[in-house]
This record gives sequence, C-alpha cells and structure tokens, in this order.
Amino acid sequence: MTDSTNEVNGGNWFHQAYHPIGFWSIGLGHRTYLGDETHIRDKSRRVCRFCGQTTPAVTFNKEAHVAPQLLAARNLLSVYECDVCNENFGIGIENDLGIWTKPHRAVLRVPGQKGVPTIIGMGPDPWRIEGSGTTLKVNARRDAMPYEVDEENHLIIMEILRDPYTPAGVMKAFVRIGLTLMPDDELVNFSKLMAWIQNPNHKAAHIGTWSWIYETTFPGPMPNDRVRAGLFRRKSEEGLYPYMFLMLAYGNHAYQVPLFSVERDAHLDEKRFEVPLYPLTSSADRAAFGHPTETLIDLTGTEVIQGETVKIKLSYDAREEVTDVNPVV
Ligand SMILES: [Zn+2]
Repeated sequence: MTDSTNEVNGGNWFHQAYHPIGFWSIGLGHRTYLGDETHIRDKSRRVCRFCGQTTPAVTFNKEAHVAPQLLAARNLLSVYECDVCNENFGIGIENDLGIWTKPHRAVLRVPGQKGVPTIIGMGPDPWRIEGSGTTLKVNARRDAMPYEVDEENHLIIMEILRDPYTPAGVMKAFVRIGLTLMPDDELVNFSKLMAWIQNPNHKAAHIGTWSWIYETTFPGPMPNDRVRAGLFRRKSEEGLYPYMFLMLAYGNHAYQVPLFSVERDAHLDEKRFEVPLYPLTSSADRAAFGHPTETLIDLTGTEVIQGETVKIKLSYDAREEVTDVNPVV
C-alpha cells in the first residue's frame, strides 16, 4: 500500500475514481429513520443486518443511532440493528471510539448524550478541562498548566492523555457506521467485514492493512453539533484502490475510512495500491484560519494502547485567568 497526498493526486482524482451513493447530515433536530416505511412502522418485519436475526429471536425496542450519540448525532435512527447488536456495539467498539475522540470532543465542546465531556488529569498536579457554550474552562495550578499559550497567534496548545483504548475497536466503530448507511443491495459485498466488526475478540481476525484512516483537521471555529457522512463507490471494477469509502466529519475533523470488500477487492491483495484522497478544501472565507492538514492513522493494533497523548491546537478570542480557591478535582 502506498499513501499519497493531494499534491500527487490532484483534487479531481477522487471524483474520477469514485461516485457518491449517498450523503447524510445528522444532528440534534427532528428525528428521521434510515429504512423504508414498512420497517419503520412494523418492528416485527425488521431484520438486523449485523446478526441476520428477526423477531421474536431478537427485539428492536431500543433506538439504534446511525452514528454514535457521543458525536452529537442523535436524529438519524436505523431500523437495521437489533437490541442485542446495539448493546454489544455500545459497550464494545463504540466505547473505543468514545475514548479515542474524547480529547477532541472535550475541547470542541461536542454535546454528547451526557453533555460535553470533561477531561481530568490525575497525578501530583491534577487539572480539569470542562467546556460549555462557547467557553472552555481549564482548572489547574498556575505552575502546572497542562498547556502552552502562544500569545502572538492566539493559540493554546494542549497535550491531553487519552484513556486506554484498542485501535481495532475504533476502526470497527467507524466501519459500523459505513455498514449502517450502506444500501441493502451492497451488503452482499461486505459479509466478511460484517463478521469482523461483530467479533469482540480483536485478535481473532483482522483486516490488516485496511485498518487505516485519513484524518483531515480544519483550523478555526466549526459547528460542533452535527455529523456529516457520505458513502463513495469505486467506478471501475479493476481500479487499484478500495471498493468503498465512508467519509465522516464532525467538528474540526473529517475521516476517510476504507470499507473492505472481499468480493470486490480480491485483486488488491498483496499489491501496492494508491489511495485517492477526498478533496476537502476550506472555503475562501475560512482561509484566514489556515489550511487543513492530513494525517494517516494506523488503527491496525489489537492490543490496548496506554499512555497515548493527543496534541490539540486551539485558537481563542479571549483568555482570562481566574484565581479560585476551590480544589481542582
Ligand atoms: Zn443483531
């Protein structure tokens, strides 16, 4: 596998190689369902696309969110997920995604189902980061700040410790979103991927070099209460790049996630292939905040990662130091 940059690919290569099969905007407003009217109204006719079960073997009483609620994506529900799979995803892979995204969600003040997450730093100099509305409060001893300030550029640079997580779990959670948005007639191409995300034992099987994603970071203020998603399918059967991609964006980040198809991608095995990057650009009125940056993230790991830190640059309008006698945590 080789990774490429937009410089090499040019913005148009992605659109020459892929065509969109759907776009979704998910937020906090009026609820809608993914699925046809019959299955929305009549739960007894629903089929879980993950385990293949129907009622009465399984129930469909819980609300199955297309994207996790912690990303502030609450108003798009799925009729394709039974209560058992819903619960297993919730306590398993979505927990990994939650931990992995938490530093960014806390700093961006993304309103999840339990509100904006708080980050607490333990040790001899404990600190606490909590946000609400447009304010981010950092509670720390003056000589033990968990961040640096670049006064000239109005930037705060934070290095936040991530709680322990498993990279393969994060990848599976991204893939689950893609498989939920997938049209019915494409599911025949993803039987192996479907089985892989349901296996809670991450070491049992893996999809190897397919477990990577592109992360694009946009500087400057962005809406923090919605998720945008898109699915893209390869135009040519012979193309030396993955059959499908999920694009998922929330806050200042967009993720390009390959969806591996045994049935369609067999010709890519052991070959070097190129990855067209989705052409994400800043509009002219955002140019003042700088250019987006891209990072290739390897989510192959099946072991729990401990002690990883995340560097976050945050621009601010105003910064105020307040002395408080209350304990930090
Ligand atoms: Zn199920």
